[in-house]
Amino acid sequence: MTALLNVRDLCVAYGKVPAVRSVSLEVPAGRIVSVIGANGAGKSTLLNALMGLLPASGSISFEGIEQIDRPVAARVASGITLVPERRELFGALSVHDNLVLGGYMLRNRHEVAEQLEIAYQRFPRLNERRTQLAATLSGGERQMLAMGRALMSRPKLLMLDEPSLGLAPRIVIETLAIVVELQATGVSTLLVEQNAHAALQIAAWGCVMELGEIRISAPAHELLCDERVIHSYLGSHAVTGTAPNGANKAE
Ligand code: ATP
Repeated sequence: MTALLNVRDLCVAYGKVPAVRSVSLEVPAGRIVSVIGANGAGKSTLLNALMGLLPASGSISFEGIEQIDRPVAARVASGITLVPERRELFGALSVHDNLVLGGYMLRNRHEVAEQLEIAYQRFPRLNERRTQLAATLSGGERQMLAMGRALMSRPKLLMLDEPSLGLAPRIVIETLAIVVELQATGVSTLLVEQNAHAALQIAAWGCVMELGEIRISAPAHELLCDERVIHSYLGSHAVTGTAPNGANKAE
């Protein structure tokens, strides 16, 4: 299968301290790839570098076009988007205005209106809270708004950094179910997640990141049975956890 995103030998450092070391990974078109790993493994750094928020060396090919020297806006225009770990909403703006800002790349008002309609259908809760300030939303609603805002640019690749952070288990399941739904509409996802069990259940492929490197890369269903992964990342979830419907297997 053709890779939508093809990353080769990506290196990122903070000053002289390397945080991502020669990482290579692929996200095939229409697939979910999950990256799991402990705190400080380099997962957020990896996503931020792919988005162009941090300088990096190596190669980031998206639909066959090299992105490594392109600015963030050009990457967004190509179809890449990131929902950052802290969600980074504009707290003093309404739900509606946050969404509109996510569509800044769209060509005209008609396209913005169209995408807003899709966002409100996908997240009915946001529709109910259109005029509410983002700062006053619950954690789950903030995550929905962050995802809705990212989707306004009609991405082909959604990168999600720890979407489950601080959320109740039921909301985590709902959030990941949306990722699965998006896959059905052709949107691929690169998912960074501490909840390794849920992340691997919905993914076709999984990567384990340790100390800035991808240490294991395999079909997600194989990682769910891998002794090293069970021991380090799955623990008691190895047998009993639940994930949203639509979990897919690698082909
Ligand atoms: P977490 O799940 O805790 O966010 P992570 O896997 O996303 O962890 P990163 O946040 O990417 O890991 O951090 C990777 C390494 O880079 C860590 O050692 C971290 O301390 C370091 N680091 C992250 N951000 C900075 C920064 N702005 N300046 C210096 N070092 C940083």
